[in-house]
Parts: sequence; C-alpha cells; structure tokens
Amino acid sequence: LKLRIEIKDMLREEIRGLLPYEVVPFKGKIKLDIMENPYDLPSAIKDEFLRELKKLSLNRYPDPTANGLRVALSLYLNVDKEMIILGNGSDELILDLLLTFGRGKIVYPEPTFAMYGILAKIAGQEPVGIPLREDFGLDAESILKVGQEGIIFIAYPNNPTGNLFSQEAIIRIIEEGSCLVVVDEAYCEFSGKTLLPFVKKYPNLIVLRTFSKAFGLAGARVGYLVANKEITDEILKVKLPYNLNAISQLLATITLKHGDLLRERIDKIKSERERVYKELQEIPGIIPYPSKTNFILFKVENLRGRDLFDLLVKEGILIRNLSNEGLLRNSLRLTIGKPGENDIFLESLKKIL
Ligand code: PMP
Repeated sequence: LKLRIEIKDMLREEIRGLLPYEVVPFKGKIKLDIMENPYDLPSAIKDEFLRELKKLSLNRYPDPTANGLRVALSLYLNVDKEMIILGNGSDELILDLLLTFGRGKIVYPEPTFAMYGILAKIAGQEPVGIPLREDFGLDAESILKVGQEGIIFIAYPNNPTGNLFSQEAIIRIIEEGSCLVVVDEAYCEFSGKTLLPFVKKYPNLIVLRTFSKAFGLAGARVGYLVANKEITDEILKVKLPYNLNAISQLLATITLKHGDLLRERIDKIKSERERVYKELQEIPGIIPYPSKTNFILFKVENLRGRDLFDLLVKEGILIRNLSNEGLLRNSLRLTIGKPGENDIFLESLKKIL
C-alpha cells in the first residue's frame, strides 16, 4: 500500500516532542523506585474481595458514578458525595482537570511530579515550572504571577523532594490567585497533613488523592478528587463515563472499609523512613533530605548519581535516578520498602561507596 501522506505530518505539534512512558523491565530482587507500598493487601481484604467478586456481573458496564465507593469516601472524608470524582488513578483526573479548565498555562513548582508537565502538553496547554527555592520551599510570588492565566498544581508533600510546603504559602496562593489551585495529596497518609478542610471555604481549591500509595492499590488504579459541586459538575462533562472499572471500584470500597488493617503498615513505613533517613545521614558522601512521604531523596557527593544508580542495579536494587542539573544534581530517590529490603539497600550503598 502506497500512502501519499506521512503519519508525522498528521501529528499534533504538541505530541511531536514527547516520548512514550517507558518502564524498563527489572530482573533484580529489590524494587524501590516508584513509591509502591511494599506490603501486599492483608489476606482478610483479599478474601472478602474474592467472595464479592464472584457476585459481580462482569457482563455489565460499571457504575459510571462509582456510587458505592463515593458514598464510602464521603463518610471517610466527611464531605458530600457530589464533591467527589473517582478516576482511573489520579493521573487520569489530572488530565480531566486540564481538559475541563486548562486556559493556557499550567503552573507548578519544579522539581515536582512529572505528569503535570507531560499531561499539560498532551492537553494542548503550556507547562510552566517555577523553580523551588534552595531549601525546597515555594516561590509563591512567582507562582502567583503566572498562575492567574491557568491552573496551579502543588504536590503536598512534594514528589521528589519529599517535603511539605508551608501551608500559609499555599493558602496565600489559593486566596490571591484568581485561578484553580490543585493540591495533590498523593502522600497525605504518610504526612498526616491535608488541606481538605479548606475545600468548603475556597471555591477554587481542588484536592487530589490516590489509593496507590498508603492504601497499597497501585495495581488497581484508583484516585479521587474533592472539590465544590460547581467544579465537579463541570468535570463530569469531560470524564469518560466508565473510567473506573467495576473490579477496582469493588476492591477500593472493601479496602477503605478495612482502613484499620492498613494503619499499622503505614506506621511501619513511617518509622522505617525515619530509621533509613538517620542511617543515610551516617554514611559519608550521602546527603538525605527529610521526608514526609514514603520515599527519601538523597544527594551523592563523590560519585555521579547515574553511576551510583547503575552500581545499585548491578546489586539487584532498583531506585530512581533523578540526577540532572540544578536542584537535583546527583540526586536519587529511594522508596521505603520492608525493613529487610531497606537493610539490603543500605548495606549495598555502603559497600559501593
Ligand atoms: N501525584 C503524585 C504527587 C505522585 O507522586 C503520583 C505517583 N507517583 C501520582 C499523583 C499518581 O498516582 P496514581 O495515578 O497512581 O493515582
């Protein structure tokens, strides 16, 4: 077949420069790269899920409103269910927000979660990263200057730096910015801090959450956002009707019901985070940054970040290499694993250095 047209000529300009999201297959033993929960679901949850799954009519489309899960979440969060929208991971909700409200510029502090910038391009918006201060604090002034023309995204705590920005600075951005402000609380169960109570007060605030981290459901892809009905009504026009499949709706509802079974694991991850942070501080040439999440960013002094990453892979350990110029120079991000995994990582690191 002879085509008279070039596929490349038909491509949207914004897509031309993008690369597909690539996950490199990893054959090692210890995977501590993308903030997964190291613990699989408690068997009580899995058993109940399997029992309920048998009753599910999989020939039917899922409930487009995910009503059961929304009701459970509205009780858990103490907000009206109309203020909640479920997504196929919070990634999808970021895209929905951009498609619904993107008016030009998508503004976020940098470095931060890479998907804000990537999805902004996909949605035909202009991503604008505002550099964090040296101490990883927010430059509220600069964010406010550009933010007015679009949507502001703030991860609280931030990925990959692991810190919580000052709540006063975020509130100032919400109050002074005549635009929507999305506060992404993917790690809030580890930080214990949230801006959720402010949603009722501020009509321009959207809080984003996920089941992927503390709730350990990364494989099921469930995220949600909370905002006033004026906002959620608009997003519902854009959201794909059957975005969250029936199996994930069921699993997330059961998991939420058994939240108490997950508490102990979250506490364990938090105490491991503190232990690993202290141990990293003791290693010459390593500078760890304090974290309120389930990961730790650290800088390596006498070696290139990329080289340390490769040497760890040789030991069967995968973490995340973030080394680039600027604030993340020679920096890597470690996801907190089970105590034994963290020990193997620390031993290998000492051996390499
Ligand atoms: N927000 C932040 C800040 C994240 O770090 C991540 C995952 N790395 C996400 C959102 C996406 O989470 P998910 O799509 O699994 O809900």
